[in-house]
Order: sequence, then structure tokens, then C-alpha cells
Amino acid sequence: MKKVIIYFFSFLFICFILPALLTKLDISTSAETDEDITEENTESLSETYTYNQYGTIKLLHADTNEVEEVALDTYLCNVVSAEMPVDFETEALKAQAIVARTYTIYKINHKKHDNADICDDSTCCQAWISKEDRLARWDGDKEAKWSKIEECVNATKGKIITYNNEPINAFFHSNSGGKTELPVDVWGGGSDMPYLQVVETAGEDGYTQYNSEVELTNEELLEKLKTTYADIQIDFNNDEDIKIVEYTSSGRVKTVKFGNHEISGTEARSLLGLRSTNFEIIKEDGKIKFTVTGYGHGVGMSQTGADSMAKSGSTAEEIIQHFYVDVEIKEVNSL
Ligand SMILES: [Zn+2]
Repeated sequence: MKKVIIYFFSFLFICFILPALLTKLDISTSAETDEDITEENTESLSETYTYNQYGTIKLLHADTNEVEEVALDTYLCNVVSAEMPVDFETEALKAQAIVARTYTIYKINHKKHDNADICDDSTCCQAWISKEDRLARWDGDKEAKWSKIEECVNATKGKIITYNNEPINAFFHSNSGGKTELPVDVWGGGSDMPYLQVVETAGEDGYTQYNSEVELTNEELLEKLKTTYADIQIDFNNDEDIKIVEYTSSGRVKTVKFGNHEISGTEARSLLGLRSTNFEIIKEDGKIKFTVTGYGHGVGMSQTGADSMAKSGSTAEEIIQHFYVDVEIKEVNSL
């Protein structure tokens, strides 16, 4: 009888329990393997993302006039580290990487330079700094800072911002003063860029770029205006002779009157060295004070706004969707 019972349980074990155990083992083994493969794949995919085009770009070094051919994402590390403080939030740096990649590809398709895709002069195309110069200017753990930049660029490999399936003209600036600007009020065009609208962002007043002042004596003001308007005449005793005439829809200065000339806010900004066109004029005894809000032209993504949003938990994609209206983030190879 005992033998029968042993045979019975052995039979049960061999036919049902053992296969079940083996299957379980199999499943757990294959799950682990799958996980390993997935991780490896993801890593190697992001590291070996192959651009169908745009993988290398021709970069013009404005000071030496040399054209260098560089890998796009290597170039972007130099751009992001030149354009945005490394201590900004990771999601803000990732947004900057996507914006800079988009801006670069837009420039490749809308060339400004004959023998190059883009130059390293921030006033012409986009800022750039060599890794050597960047590390020399940082303090603390320089290599860790560079790695942070590289990780943010690598995490966004291939990603660009599109509108109607085309890369957008991804303008950006330092601090919007809380509200971005329409391109028409800066450059007089941009109706073909409906993704650039006036948007509001909280928290930009917490950055040093938010407030600034320029104080000029009456004579200094005249000298600066004379560089363009040789016949300028201002009656400093007449309050009507220096005043803001018109504002843009975002509240920046559109037109300002200086004596016998009315000039645009953007021209006043450049002639007087103001950080933005969002300014007020305060007349003091023998002096004119310009109190300025924000830093830059105000169009597109505000970098400090991006950092402020990231601090509140926004992702890079959410930051981009906030500053550029009705856009999509796509893989460049899918276009
Ligand atoms: Zn350029």
C-alpha cells in the first residue's frame, strides 16, 4: 500500500509539480533576461541614435572664420553649456537641448552663412563654448557638471519641436519678465510662426535677470541717441518730451518719444543698452533712469521661466508645450 502511495505522489510530482516548477523557473529566468535586454537596448539605442540626416553640422567659428564639422549632439553640449547655467534643473536643461537642436536644424534649412550651417556668435546664430573653456570657467566638480550637460543632451537625442510637421524657429531668451513677446513686435514679422504667442510664466521674478536699471545723465542720453539721430533735441524741462507713446500687446514699450524723434522700443533697447524693451522711465534731477524688467527679446522660451517651471515639477516636454503653442515634439528621423 505504501508503495502505491509513493508511486502515486511520484507520478503527481513528475507529471504536474515538476513541470510547473520548471515553467516558473523558466518564466522568471526569461523575465530577467528580457529586462536585461530591454535596459541594454534602451541604453545602446540612445547612445547610437543614428540621424538619417543632420548627424553632423558645419560650424563656423566667427573669430577665426574656420568651419568645423562636428557631430550634432556634441555641438549641442557646447551650446547648452554656453546658453544655460549648469545649475538649472535637469528638465530645463533638457528643454534647452531640444530647443537648441530644433533651432540648429531650422538654421540648416534656412542658411545664413554660405559655407556653414550655423555660427558660434550668439548675436548672429547661437552661443557656443569649447569644453576646455567651459571647464576653465566653472568651479567645483567640473567633470560632473559637464556630465550633467551631456546626460541632458543624450536624454533628448533626435527630439525636435515641430509645427505642421516642420522644425520650428525655436527662439529663446533669458527672462521674459513674466510674459513672452510676439515676434512682430521685435522684428516686424513672424506671421508665419503662429506657435510664437504671448504666454505668461510664474516665478521669473526670483532670478537676478528679472530686474535691472540703467541710469544716464541728460548729456549721456543725448550722446547715445546722437549716434543714430544726429539732430536729436530734447527739452528736459518738458515732461512731454520724454515719454512712452505706445505699448505692445505683452506690455513692452513699442514706441518711445525722445524730443523730436519717436523710436521703437527695440531701437531704444539697443541704443541705450537696456536688457529688454519692458522698461519704465523715471526722470530725476539731471538724470534719466530706466528701470527694466526681464532680459532678452522675450520671444519663445524663457530660460529662467523654464527653470522655474521645472522647479514646480514640469517636464522638458511640458515646458516646451508651454512656451511654443500647438507644437509637437517628434523624432527628427520621422519627418
Ligand atoms: Zn551666424
